[in-house]
Amino acid sequence: MSDTSVVSNTLDIEAIRSQFPILHQKVNGKQLVYLDNAATNQKPQSVINALEHHYAADNANIHRGIHTLAERSTTAFEDTRKAVQAFINSNEVEEIIFTKGTTESINLVASSWGRKYLNEGDEIIVSGLEHHSNIVPWQLIAEEKGARVRAIPVLDNGDLDIAEFSNMLSNKTKLVAVNHASNSLGTINPVHEIIKMSHEAGAKVLIDGAQASSHLTIDVQALDADFYALSAHKMYGPTGVGILYGKRSLLEKMPPYQGGGEMIKDVSFDKTTFNDIPYKFEAGTPNIADVVAFKAAIDFINDLGKENIAAYEEELLSYATAQLNEIEGVRIIGQAQNKVSVISFVVDGIHHFDLGMWMDAKGVAVRTGHHCTQPLMDRFSIEGTTRASFSVYNTIAEIDIFVEALKDIIKKLK
Ligand code: PLP
Repeated sequence: MSDTSVVSNTLDIEAIRSQFPILHQKVNGKQLVYLDNAATNQKPQSVINALEHHYAADNANIHRGIHTLAERSTTAFEDTRKAVQAFINSNEVEEIIFTKGTTESINLVASSWGRKYLNEGDEIIVSGLEHHSNIVPWQLIAEEKGARVRAIPVLDNGDLDIAEFSNMLSNKTKLVAVNHASNSLGTINPVHEIIKMSHEAGAKVLIDGAQASSHLTIDVQALDADFYALSAHKMYGPTGVGILYGKRSLLEKMPPYQGGGEMIKDVSFDKTTFNDIPYKFEAGTPNIADVVAFKAAIDFINDLGKENIAAYEEELLSYATAQLNEIEGVRIIGQAQNKVSVISFVVDGIHHFDLGMWMDAKGVAVRTGHHCTQPLMDRFSIEGTTRASFSVYNTIAEIDIFVEALKDIIKKLK
């Protein structure tokens, strides 16, 4: 078995691991090996401290108060917005809207933009790699407006069929909604190319960045994305917080998503005037503490450096892929050239649920099932997979434990 220590040339992985209290525990009598990072990754002490500090020292409602705590809370909340702006390189801070997460961000666009701009016969193109949260909101609005949802096919290696996408684009296409990276297979999609092609056809583009955000550099201006969605909890941050980025020119013309406090300038029974962006889309008291702590997560990623994280995770991915490819009866689903650190696989004759339970008994946390991508499972004629996904605190030694556990379980169950 390999040494647990530094594999990366640039990152001290043991020092990073020491910042994550949750990793240092036994599960079912075995040292925890947490490989379910695509579902949610763990939180460093700095994020936990930021949450605690907010409630212990600064808690107050934001924007409307003139007292000191309200000002502190508001400043911390708005500082996160600035940090997100820098993180995704949006042109203006007002283009960042806080939401509950990627799912709510997509629903916001489907409800607000979709209700205003979609008409009967229009087409929304998603892809065969999408999470249900980037399928169902479009189906709901399409049904309401008489529009149609179509899906870009997936090739055998897990890449999107871009040639077919080109054929699908037409003047009926009003919106293209695809993920930057697939949560099920890890495929990194050529979003720059997809956006360019869509714009040439006159369509707007929403990128679901839930899986890309902790692995890939995001530059919404270089991409020319119209909308970009992500979730803090997949970036070492708290659950229940995410953002929607939208170009100012689009957001300003979109109707509010929800009504209530914060999103208004004036209310009377005759007429309500709405607030400016981003507040127009942030009705009610937001998840202040988690937004505040989200900044600590962004700082954590920035301090390590996205490129360093990506390079190290690539090492973990290649090592794990080579190991799994050697085990008889194991078939990796999706072996695209460009992948984030996600491996989905099936094992001949063993149900993924059984495999997941046996893994858990050995202290190894992996995800099993359809990963909220049932159309993708149908594409590969499978019901589900076992998925191992890696974050920057994982080690080669943990992959060895996982691989040994897998071999052992296969021997036992076959
Ligand atoms: N899109 C992708 C690619 C995801 O992986 C996920 C979560 O797994 C989502 C969307 C939904 O994110 P959330 O549940 O944080 O809203």
